Amino acid sequence: MKNFESDFYSCIRCGFCLDFSWIGSYRMCPSYDVQGFESYSARGKIAIARAIHEGTLELNESVAKRFFSCTDCLACQSNCFKFVDLQRIFRAVKSELVKGGLLPKRFVNISENLTEFKNIYGKPPYKRFDWMPSRSRLGKKAEILYFVGCTSSYLRRRIAFSTYNLLELAKIDFSILHNEWCCGHPYLASGQIDLAREFLEHNIKAIENTGVDRVVFSCPACLKSFRKDAKEILDIKIPFKTFHISELLDEQIQKGTVNLGKQAEKVTYHDPCILSRHLDLYELPRRLLKSIPGIELVEMPRHAKDSYCCGGGNFLKLVFPDIASRIADKRVDEALETEAEKIVTSCPYCQTNLISAAIKKGRKMQVVDLSQLILDAIIK
Ligand code: SF4
Ligand code: SF4
Repeated sequence: MKNFESDFYSCIRCGFCLDFSWIGSYRMCPSYDVQGFESYSARGKIAIARAIHEGTLELNESVAKRFFSCTDCLACQSNCFKFVDLQRIFRAVKSELVKGGLLPKRFVNISENLTEFKNIYGKPPYKRFDWMPSRSRLGKKAEILYFVGCTSSYLRRRIAFSTYNLLELAKIDFSILHNEWCCGHPYLASGQIDLAREFLEHNIKAIENTGVDRVVFSCPACLKSFRKDAKEILDIKIPFKTFHISELLDEQIQKGTVNLGKQAEKVTYHDPCILSRHLDLYELPRRLLKSIPGIELVEMPRHAKDSYCCGGGNFLKLVFPDIASRIADKRVDEALETEAEKIVTSCPYCQTNLISAAIKKGRKMQVVDLSQLILDAIIK
């Protein structure tokens, strides 16, 4: 970890990565928020990494729990005015933990599922497309490709179904890979960079073989793997353009191919950390929401650049479900205070984690994906 010396020593321990003191009495770092120990925060983890580097602390299970319960929400990074490269340090420590055999058991299970089935859920690959209204689009020649991702394919199928229907209603000529693998994000999240590389390479080659020059995603994590991580870990410029479904829908609404009818509802928008802080899409989903006549958007105190993670990032819901669920409880409480009828989000992981919390709170709040809300609003 010698490469990180300048980062370790430039942290002045100011604590700007911990709290949202400018909004109210909110903690910014979700894992520090619910665990209560500074060692879960960015400042604490920098101190741990530095101690490991200086030889005063050894890697152990307790260190592993701190690093693998980070949701990669980027709140710390966005507020570190010393620009310490936190994400790079976290990833390097996780790689060391993996080498030392300290990958948490549930991440080991996810990795085994990926090796055998090419999806995180350990489901047979042929079941990946069970949600599809018709298989005629699998592997066909088309202008655009829809990359579905594991969670929308196996768990949040309504997102895949809504996206599919939205593309059809917009009369977009699209296809879906018959040999789609997980995008590799779980390997990146767990510090297994070589395996992430292998999965990305497989998918890029498969997409290249279709000849498309545009790929659309409903999952922000998949989009990030291609738009940002591929450049970083493969050192290549990918040979196609990438879009989140909200970017493509905005294009269609501007062109007038898609028209939206009235939906009288009060909603609040939860920013998925990957779509917002990682990919800088804050305004676009809100513009889409506001373009639906009758929608009233009420913001939670923590929103946009100051948003709070749902707790599902970096597979926390699968790896440390108790931590993920306590974070989601706080987020749903914040949403309930707005008196909105629905939380709208645009990420299958956020939806999954927030739905579990909303169910526990007596289903007073629905959690829907933006694609579903727009599909309901489209004048067919
Ligand atoms: S904001 Fe940056 S400099 Fe301040 S404690 Fe956190 S990591 Fe260190
Ligand atoms: S990325 Fe998010 S969860 Fe991880 S240390 Fe930073 S603020 Fe905390």
